[in-house]
Amino acid sequence: MPKFIPYNHDQNAMVVINFRDQLQPGTFEHAIHYLIHEKLDLSIFDYAYRNKDGGRPAYNPAILLSVVLFAYSKGITSSREIEWCCTNNIIFKALSCDTVPHFTTIASFISSHPQAIESLFEQILLVCHEQGLLGNELFAIDGCKMPSNASKEWSGTFKELQQKRAKLKKLIRHHMREHRRIDKTESADAEKQKRTTQTIETLSKAHDKIDKFLKTATPRMGQAKRPTEVKSNITDNESAKMTTSKGTIQGYNGIATVDKKHQIVIDAQAFGAGQEHHTLQPVIERIKVRYQKLKIARNIYRKNVLVTADTGFANEANMEYLHDNKINAYVPDNKFRSRDPKFADQKTKYGKRQPIKKIQTRYKEVIPASEFHLDAQTKTCICPTGETMWLKREGTDRYGKHQKLYFEGRLSKCRVCPLKTQCMQNPDSANHRSGHGRQVSFIIDKERKNKYTEWMKVRVDSELGKMVYSHRMSTVEPVFANIGTNKGLKRFSLRGRAKVQGQWQLFCIIHNIEKLANYGNLTRAKRK
Ligand code: SF4
Repeated sequence: MPKFIPYNHDQNAMVVINFRDQLQPGTFEHAIHYLIHEKLDLSIFDYAYRNKDGGRPAYNPAILLSVVLFAYSKGITSSREIEWCCTNNIIFKALSCDTVPHFTTIASFISSHPQAIESLFEQILLVCHEQGLLGNELFAIDGCKMPSNASKEWSGTFKELQQKRAKLKKLIRHHMREHRRIDKTESADAEKQKRTTQTIETLSKAHDKIDKFLKTATPRMGQAKRPTEVKSNITDNESAKMTTSKGTIQGYNGIATVDKKHQIVIDAQAFGAGQEHHTLQPVIERIKVRYQKLKIARNIYRKNVLVTADTGFANEANMEYLHDNKINAYVPDNKFRSRDPKFADQKTKYGKRQPIKKIQTRYKEVIPASEFHLDAQTKTCICPTGETMWLKREGTDRYGKHQKLYFEGRLSKCRVCPLKTQCMQNPDSANHRSGHGRQVSFIIDKERKNKYTEWMKVRVDSELGKMVYSHRMSTVEPVFANIGTNKGLKRFSLRGRAKVQGQWQLFCIIHNIEKLANYGNLTRAKRK
């Protein structure tokens, strides 16, 4: 029989631990510790502390920031869990020097300083710049939709919420009647009565919550040029109900701009909207201002930096903005793959990425308007059988912006036309004296409308455009994968855009610190 050293788990031991020894150079915790104590100016948090002449000392922001950043890097966003880690985990103990901040202190610290977090983000970015991690050759912009601390069940337009309130009122009345009925019966069941009372209380709370919201808030409008009402949310009215590849969520879209050289996040903003069109201009402007402020470049876009974003950011207004501001951008429209011969057999080879459900309509497919020949100069239209159609009406599109021409086939021609079953929705209508021939309409200044989209199409369809755009995915997507999958930061735990933006920037700071730890020279820092 071999002999082994005996061991016993049921014993206590006193171990001498040096906290500094726990923060070994080369580790992520060391990078956090080094940056916070050697590089960052944390006086930005001082405005919040007014205990100079009285009151007990507060936890140092350096300690709170260290534990919050380390916790986030492990996917821990719960303040109670962070407090537990400060009590039980040696690295947390080392970072916090064995002070154990209460979870309410941690929660308040994270949610109360969005402006200071913005400053921290910039300071970290400046360290990245000083250490040569920024290439400033190509920026890729993309969004990552994450749920926040609000339920989609509390979302709706004002009309929908009013209907929900009425429904709840009806339910409350029903349960009240039920309660009275049980009360009157001789063998009143106490348990049943209690359940009914609880149900009434729950429904009343929900009713009052909706009622209060409807009385105090105003309908939330979308970002379009002609805004229509979008869904409000009773819990966090700045968040949005949005559709993602993982289903419908209530949350925010975290937009990140990433520098290609080392995938450093140079801008992080959160927007409470599913659509990304309106986020492009604020993001581009913020980067310009930040680079000026940090004295990296007076106008970074004058240095011919390439900017790419996916099709979600493409619309005419954004293309016009990029064109007028001479930004060297490549933002394709959603048809650019279908124009590229390299992707011609993609669908047959791999199938459709997201099979679209066939929508049952009462309309059959007929010969499209593109098969008709329009002469916008003479305002004439020739149908597929070569017959001249008559100009029925001249007007504008439904937005009143663009000129539109409405043509109709001559009844006498359509009635006897061999193509009428393919050309008309209802070929029988041509047989009636009061019927109609085929009708088509054209927006005649559409080309002018999409002038800047056409300009971008030429750019992205060029060889250079395809080469530049091919770098977008490999630049920005790994950042989201690192934050969401490696770090486990998959949801925002706060409410309100300012707070969520602060949290999104903290997520991105984690990513940038990791890059500094891996590619910077923080590890060569001298030990005190
Ligand atoms: S149905 Fe009328 S409009 Fe259509 S192809 Fe025939 S003649 Fe022309």
